[in-house]
Amino acid sequence: MTDFIPSFIREDLLKLSAYIPTPISDNQKQLTRLDANESPYNLPSELRIKLASFYEQEIETNRYPDGSHSVLKRLIVNYVNESINKEGLFNVNNISIGNGSDELIRSILMATCLNNQGSILVANPTFSMYKILAESLGINTISIERNEIDFSWDIDKANQAIRETNNPPIKVIFVVHPNSPTANCLNDSEIAWLKNLPSDILVVIDEAYYEFSKKTLAIELKNYPNWLVLRTFSKAFRLAAHRVGYAIASPAIINVLEKLRLPYNLPTFSQLAAQFAMENRQLILPAVEETIKEKERVFQELNKIKNLKIWRSDANFIYCRLKENGNYENHQNILNQLKEKNILIRHTGGGLRISIGTPEENDYLLSTIQSLFNQ
Ligand SMILES: *Cc1c(COP(=O)(O)O)cnc(C)c1O
Repeated sequence: MTDFIPSFIREDLLKLSAYIPTPISDNQKQLTRLDANESPYNLPSELRIKLASFYEQEIETNRYPDGSHSVLKRLIVNYVNESINKEGLFNVNNISIGNGSDELIRSILMATCLNNQGSILVANPTFSMYKILAESLGINTISIERNEIDFSWDIDKANQAIRETNNPPIKVIFVVHPNSPTANCLNDSEIAWLKNLPSDILVVIDEAYYEFSKKTLAIELKNYPNWLVLRTFSKAFRLAAHRVGYAIASPAIINVLEKLRLPYNLPTFSQLAAQFAMENRQLILPAVEETIKEKERVFQELNKIKNLKIWRSDANFIYCRLKENGNYENHQNILNQLKEKNILIRHTGGGLRISIGTPEENDYLLSTIQSLFNQ
């Protein structure tokens, strides 16, 4: 069986490698997992107990989920309007909910670029799923490099890519606010550039870390109908296990995303969990403030290490690089040495991305990393 490559498989898929998340092993509870930007905190136990009781009392496992997501959509609308202080600005026709934002990214790609209709533009280092999902659909990704100083977009290079990419033209630009892995929000000139882009290009603004940055461009969607904002329950809402993300955009775009998604893309229990998290966000989101405080502390401590260059972060993680000999092997070496001490971080985009954990986890990370550099 092993060598058989079926000829009915698309040839372009044979050379793709899958996104391989860190395997979750039996000893996961003993690991310090600072590699996926998750919240280090489970839902508060009173909420988990309540959720479990829903499962006992309300869920009909024999029935399909609510394919309209109507209850959850209404809750999200309230939250989004609250986040921009504009009651009633958005309604349920401005929201589409996906099985994680990943599903929405794929739907966006299908809606815009499939069948050789368009290419996408990204600026590296950035979230890898845009390119991975594009490749899986046979869609061309144009990648430019970010400015090395502050990881902003090189706008000249971006404009040049837009001008010169014709076959097929760039239809979607993915920006991240704040970016992963580099943790910077869009600056004023980047935002001005996005505002001036032609309206035949879709601008996707991924706000996965909005609750940490407290910055959002959602209010601009009313002025720029070619913009779309993505958010998720996987980070500040502590629901990565449930796979729920949402898009905010004009009804015309949302309509198409709703056509493309699978009819029952969100399991009943995930919808319930997301609804419940929204309704009880005053019990869940305060942990964001603790993470922000811890981030400042971790930043200050890492900053004392002479050979580390560290960037300011608007998210729940910190990006750093070796100042001297910052090649692939040396970064990988640090990752491996931390792994030996049961600490997981991520080596990506030519540097190291470290998620902020609990105070105890951060202490352990700091003492381990300090001893690596003091050897
Ligand atoms: C974590 C993250 C997401 C969330 O993806 P989900 O599929 O909703 O879990 C989206 N975008 C970026 C940039 C992220 O870092």
